[in-house]
Amino acid sequence: MRKKLIAGNWKMNLGIQEGLSLASEVFHMTEAELHHPNIQVIIAPPFIHLDALSRRKPASLKLALAAQNCSAHVQGAYTGEVSAEMIHSLAVEYVILGHSERRSFFGDTDEVVAEKMKRALEQELKPILCVGEELDSREKGTHEAFVADQLEKALAHVDEEAIKQVVIAYEPVWAIGTGKTASPEQAQEMHRYLRSRLAARYGDEKAGGVSILYGGSCKPDNAAEIFAGPDVDGGLIGGASLKSRDFLAIAHAMQNSL
Ligand code: PEP
Repeated sequence: MRKKLIAGNWKMNLGIQEGLSLASEVFHMTEAELHHPNIQVIIAPPFIHLDALSRRKPASLKLALAAQNCSAHVQGAYTGEVSAEMIHSLAVEYVILGHSERRSFFGDTDEVVAEKMKRALEQELKPILCVGEELDSREKGTHEAFVADQLEKALAHVDEEAIKQVVIAYEPVWAIGTGKTASPEQAQEMHRYLRSRLAARYGDEKAGGVSILYGGSCKPDNAAEIFAGPDVDGGLIGGASLKSRDFLAIAHAMQNSL
């Protein structure tokens, strides 16, 4: 069975004390309440929290940490950047790459995302690669072609062995932080399509092993219906990950769907 993942993207929120207390609630509730061996809860806090959280995280396979980004460069004179190697030196397992906010506000082009994928995989970090169309693309009916193109370009340097480390997050841009969510049918349709693209590139078996998460206004009251799709393997959660009870309710919806 593919791994089921519920990843909380805190974005640029929470100071260190607030972050520590939210993380300790999530750690505790995950340990106490989630029992399915195939579910993992991931926290992606701002960089400055990662060291402290990596020291406090219980050594449990149910919990993991992610960075929200990494540099496309290996090391050197890149003021303000954080390398994949630095992230790997903490007990951090994942890195979110290609998030639409990085693409639209910070110039992360498909080529930059592909370089970052390379850096992450060189350091044995598992990329959570985000793809997703804008509203006008959905309205014009070009969403599948758009997302397929993003996927192909981001995977430019990812070979058959490395794809096993990659997680995909389908995040329609029009659903991120807007309160609008893709319907369960739209989500499942796109997830199935993404898996078919992976199969065309890497074969059915490899494609079948890749976890594909949904992201975009996923909340406790809509998670169960979205996770019912057979190709939906969890969620990348923004706003609702900032409240431990809401975040865990989403993880419970995943667990209950198994
Ligand atoms: C995200 O930013 O990845 C996200 C899905 O945000 P939200 O859940 O707030 O829409």
